[in-house]
Amino acid sequence: MGPGEVKPGSLRRRDVLGLGLGAATVLGAGCSPAAPAAVPVQWVGASHTRGHRLRRSGALPPVAVQRQAGALVIGAGVAGLAAARGLRQRGIDDVHVLELEDQPGGNSRGHQMAGMACPLGAHYLPLPGPQAREVSELLHELGLLKHELGRTVADERHLCHSPQERVFFEGAWAEGLLPPVEPGSRSAQQLQAFAAAVAAVQRAGAGRRGEPAFAQPAHRSAWGPLQAQLDAQTFAQWLDAHGLDDAHLRWYLGYCCRDDYGATPEEVSAWAGLHYFASRHGFHAPGSETEEREAVFTWPEGNAWLTQRLAAPLGERLHGGRTVLQVSEGRHAVEVLAWDEAQQRLERWTSPQVVLALPLFIAARVVQNPPPALAQAAALLPYAPWLVANLQIDAPLFDRPGAPPSWDNVVYGGRGLGYVDAMHQSLRPVPGATVLTAYHALARSERAALLADDPTPWAARVLAELRGAHPDIDEHVQRIHLMRWGHAMAIPVPGLQRHPALQALRGLRGRLRFAHADLAGCSVFEEACTAGAEAALA
Ligand SMILES: Cc1cc2nc3c(=O)[nH]c(=O)nc-3n(C[C@H](O)[C@H](O)[C@H](O)COP(=O)(O)OP(=O)(O)OC[C@H]3O[C@@H](n4cnc5c(N)ncnc54)[C@H](O)[C@@H]3O)c2cc1C
Repeated sequence: MGPGEVKPGSLRRRDVLGLGLGAATVLGAGCSPAAPAAVPVQWVGASHTRGHRLRRSGALPPVAVQRQAGALVIGAGVAGLAAARGLRQRGIDDVHVLELEDQPGGNSRGHQMAGMACPLGAHYLPLPGPQAREVSELLHELGLLKHELGRTVADERHLCHSPQERVFFEGAWAEGLLPPVEPGSRSAQQLQAFAAAVAAVQRAGAGRRGEPAFAQPAHRSAWGPLQAQLDAQTFAQWLDAHGLDDAHLRWYLGYCCRDDYGATPEEVSAWAGLHYFASRHGFHAPGSETEEREAVFTWPEGNAWLTQRLAAPLGERLHGGRTVLQVSEGRHAVEVLAWDEAQQRLERWTSPQVVLALPLFIAARVVQNPPPALAQAAALLPYAPWLVANLQIDAPLFDRPGAPPSWDNVVYGGRGLGYVDAMHQSLRPVPGATVLTAYHALARSERAALLADDPTPWAARVLAELRGAHPDIDEHVQRIHLMRWGHAMAIPVPGLQRHPALQALRGLRGRLRFAHADLAGCSVFEEACTAGAEAALA
């Protein structure tokens, strides 16, 4: 399917009943028993046939068009757009970007429902720390950060408004994402013990020259025996070894791993599990003096707000609907064969420099005679599939007692990661129609099922998750748009940090450069943006 093309379906009452979840929950909640006759459900946003074109073997058709570029970037995700920006800043005007999808942004693309903007993937960016220099510089250029009286100040309009987060726990909403625990209980003690353990690794792992033990981007962290040891085991093994076995703590840490890495503490390394906290504000147990909420930038369309601004200066030099099939590095230039999806013809591009801002498993398929590090790195990285559901809602939902509707709303114990409200940042005085974006990090074994033509079982799963917290959701949901990410993000499994293959790709010097969040072994804006900026600088 092409982008914008959709595979429709409709979620009937029987789909819900088939899951054994629907009517009983709706009726039992004491709200209106009516459920919608059919909720239109469709897949949106990604062109699998384009991506799968790379798997086909056989001769390519003759080249129909020859093009040249001063520099060529392949992939218009955050990394590719940051690379193009960096090349332009260095005076190369003739920078062209080839992107498989019709829209730029990659995993940070946006969508619209009923005139309301919503994300298809990434939806927030924490305030950058001191090591994320390139990100800070970009945010200054975009006016999101300013220097005032010797301090860096963020534009409040783009910071997540309060209330930021809540968790649905035992029938009520609680502020924040930590399940509420009794002061002095074993759960409370374990939360404090984890906070102390994070602070201890932050102290013990700092570098001799003052590098922080854990930094964002990751390659600017110190690296010593402590980090190597943490990277050699899973987060779950490390937690077990530290006696951190409380169910509430483990749920919360599992939620964090799934949210940032799309994987469980049993899969990610202890280095990655701790990096989530230690590279930012640490972890603060409830009631601690330093308990604070991390400030994040967010927009209705998610991080598409950023990628649209990165893409805008490219104008006609951004070529959407170009599936790059082959990249061959020659002595004097790099040759790139790209399939023009609209014209259905093959283009040959030549350029003295090419930045490959593609996931590494795709780069390994398109590069001819790839450097050994590329094949090795591509074989190392497991990828998590994700499902993102945008639900158009016609009126505020019935809410359970406790904390008020927030930007991020998470169901304790759920399979999903909760939802964000696309209208949260609006200043309208009375809540009304909105789009809720629900996130589900899936097991790798579920990837094949994501390719199903029928989207309704997935929509049913999303609704089932939310029905406990919002029993009238079936009455108010108007349409559901589902985005499937087959290879959403690399999972930082043990052994990835400082792996020689990834290091080699970062440092490669020649006509081909690599830039993608994959180089960090995990996927966040800071990693992608820095990888792109560094490739341009190189
Ligand atoms: C559901 C989801 C939620 C996320 N939430 C957040 C969040 O809130 N905050 C955050 O910081 N990060 C988040 N992330 C991580 C996100 O991946 C990164 O922030 C960032 O967008 C990655 O950018 P990238 O350029 O490295 O990769 P990508 O986004 O993967 O970009 C690669 C680009 O290459 C293109 N491409 C692929 N093959 C070809 C080809 N053959 N020819 C031409 N082009 C091709 C792709 O279409 C894509 O545009 C999320 C990711 C997902 C999937």
